[in-house]
Formats: sequence, structure tokens, C-alpha cells
Amino acid sequence: MKDTTTVFQPKTNIDSVNWYVTLKCNYNCKFCSVKKQKSTITEILDAETILFRLYDLGFEKINIVGGEPLLYPFICDITKMAKKIGFITTLRTNGSLLTSSKIAILSPYLDWIELPLDSSKEEVEKELGRGCGKHVQNIQRVSNILKCTDVKLKINTIITKLNCKEDLKPFIRALNPDKWEIFKALNIKDEKYSKFLISDREFLNYQKLNENIILKSGEEPVFNQHTNTIDSCSILLSSKDINDISKNIYSVLTLNCDGSITVIEKNSIHN
Ligand code: SF4
Repeated sequence: MKDTTTVFQPKTNIDSVNWYVTLKCNYNCKFCSVKKQKSTITEILDAETILFRLYDLGFEKINIVGGEPLLYPFICDITKMAKKIGFITTLRTNGSLLTSSKIAILSPYLDWIELPLDSSKEEVEKELGRGCGKHVQNIQRVSNILKCTDVKLKINTIITKLNCKEDLKPFIRALNPDKWEIFKALNIKDEKYSKFLISDREFLNYQKLNENIILKSGEEPVFNQHTNTIDSCSILLSSKDINDISKNIYSVLTLNCDGSITVIEKNSIHN
């Protein structure tokens, strides 16, 4: 894959930006592309300036992601700032640190919360590295709190050998999300994890088993067989942190140390 670096020009087909506020995480998910990165983003050069610049460039939505974004000390500040500027705001979190008081602080400034949920079985989530056996319980807890707010819920599911035969619809109905997006586990080229990978046929079988559901928004679930788990059009992160994380992304915005923004274009989203 060939990269070309250019000064960023607004594009009509890109309307959202992912802001990697930290690469630290308290989980150790087996199919995570981020956790291999040891460095973290701790500095905001001038968050307000950056957010205004992104807004001027034509981005309408900002996804605050990580790592685990709730480990970032200024998470409430930048969420509030982004909402006040006019962005549609999303927090993509593993949910483990989302207490009811944190949700009360963040919810006036958040349009969406995205949570990962692969199975209704704690042992499957534990095996996948999602927490230590209480992830499912946590997702239920957070979704119940969100039902009393205006924040919309999106559930992201990764399909592996461990969950590819599970009918997750009953559990999804109880969570009552506005969106449900399902991804085939990405081959992260680690032999240890290859036993968890599924074939295209197994993914299609999962789709057949789970597609017959209408979500709270009236929409159907989205099955993504060929996109990666950090699917997004653009990413904003420190240029020093760009290496492995950018492998499968179509375009990556980097935040330079002088506060300027450049974009690295990929000619393909797949290696
Ligand atoms: S919660 Fe997200 S960032 Fe953290 S290890 Fe899992 S996939 Fe990676």
C-alpha cells in the first residue's frame, strides 16, 4: 500500500473524524489494533482551536475514541467544547468506567455512545480479553442508565469462532440500541489469535441468524464483513503515534506538533 501525505483539503465524502485522545486502555481485547501502541496522547495543543479548525474543514461529527477515552483526563472538557461548537458527538468506550455520575456529566454534550458487545456470555467476553468477567453485566448497566437520557446507543460486535453461532438478538432487544454494527474479526497477523478467525461463510451464517431484528431507530443491523474494527474515514492523532494504527484506514489526519493538520491518504483500506 502506498501513502501520500498532503495538506488536508475538505472533502465532501468525509464528514466525521475520530479523535484518538489516548491510546491507553484498561482492557486487553485480543483483536484490538490500538493496544499494541505503547505511547499515549497526553497533550492537547489547543483543543478549541483544533475543534474549530475541524469544523471549518467541514467535519460534522466527531468521534472521541481511544484506547479507552475515559482514561483521558480532559474527556469532559473536550466533549463539552465539541458540542458547543456544533459537532454531532460520539464517545466510543468499553463502558467499564462509565459510572452514572460520569454519564450525568457527559450526557448533555453527547449524541451517541458506542459500546462493544460480542456475546451475552461473560466467559466469551473474558476469553476475548474484554475485561475480567463482568463486561456483559457492565454493558447492561450502562444501557439501562442511557435509557433515562437522550444519548443514543450503538453496539459494536466482533465475530470470532467463540460467538459465530450465537443468536444475539434477544440480548440486543433488551439493550434496545439505536444502531447495531457487526464486524468480522480482522486478521491482525498474530498466530496466537488465528484460531479465533472465521471464514466468510461463517460470517454470512451469523448474519442469517441475527439479521432479522429492527432496532430502536427503526433500522436494521449493519453487517461489515470486510471493513476493520476501527472503521472510519479519518483519524486525528499525534503524528508520533501513527504507525501501526493507520494500516487499514483510508485516510488519517495527523496532528502535528505545531498544531497544523496533515492527511495521509491510502489507496486502499486493506493491506
Ligand atoms: S477496549 Fe477497545 S481500545 Fe481497549 S483493548 Fe479493547 S478494543 Fe482495544
